[in-house]
Amino acid sequence: VSDLPSHADPEASPAWEPPALRVLASGSAGNCSVLEAGPAGDRRLCLIDAGLSPRKTRRLLEEMGRSLDQVEDVVVTHLDHDHFHAGWATALPGRALLRLHRRHLGRAERSGLLHRRTEPFDCAPGGSFHVQGLDAAFSPMLASHDSLGVAAFRIEFAALGSSLGFATDVGRVPVRLIEHLAGVDVLAIESNYCPDMQASSGRPEYLKRRIMDGSGHLSNQQCLDAVHEIRPREHVVLLHLSRQCNRPELVAELHAGADYALTISTQDQPTRWVKLPFRASVNTTAAARFEPVQRGLFA
Ligand SMILES: [Zn+2]
Repeated sequence: VSDLPSHADPEASPAWEPPALRVLASGSAGNCSVLEAGPAGDRRLCLIDAGLSPRKTRRLLEEMGRSLDQVEDVVVTHLDHDHFHAGWATALPGRALLRLHRRHLGRAERSGLLHRRTEPFDCAPGGSFHVQGLDAAFSPMLASHDSLGVAAFRIEFAALGSSLGFATDVGRVPVRLIEHLAGVDVLAIESNYCPDMQASSGRPEYLKRRIMDGSGHLSNQQCLDAVHEIRPREHVVLLHLSRQCNRPELVAELHAGADYALTISTQDQPTRWVKLPFRASVNTTAAARFEPVQRGLFA
């Protein structure tokens, strides 16, 4: 209870600003996105994937006037090195939890990535988890990617009436994934490769197959088809463009004339902040954020 901030009184708590997403980097050399929510002056962050080193992540956050101390939780889609940098196993900020799918626990343990504040999630109905400081409910869904799969998320800010979908490294887009993400306000989704560029890339055949066989990555067209079916309401953020087998101009052309705004993330330059809408008139209180809870497997 000593945790409770002085503004825990709902009457006194400041109004929340719209949540926002910013992709720090995306691509096979490292993926990290920041989701931010909370009242002005007390914004909290959640990292979705942490594939950049802690040092680089800290620097990028500082360059945008944020700090690692604001990070509530680190949520990872899967444990490939471009989505979770080994440095985080010992450098998780403050009281943050490392949240990963239960299926990835064994791999995390074998690879020495299991932080003592690891909190596994699963995808059973109702298996959602709440990132407290952001007042955000994450509903994960396991999609196909290599042998262990990858978690895609529908993230709801119930009190604000807004939602975000996040899907990367999904080998294909089954109907249940479309249903899971249907109608979100902002959709972040991978648009990994152009099939023609992939075919003529000179990459070894096994690698091309691994990427294109339904358990690797989405092509630009598969991404576009998924976007059409998911029907995001406002904004699409494209993730994980292949440096070798894709070009941003090509992708922009595919989405030209769409009725949503488009942001294309890159490996080297953070995107701008993409704001989620703010529908509810509710003045969410910050009080719930500080309820003491048992945090982590080994807390
Ligand atoms: Zn990846």
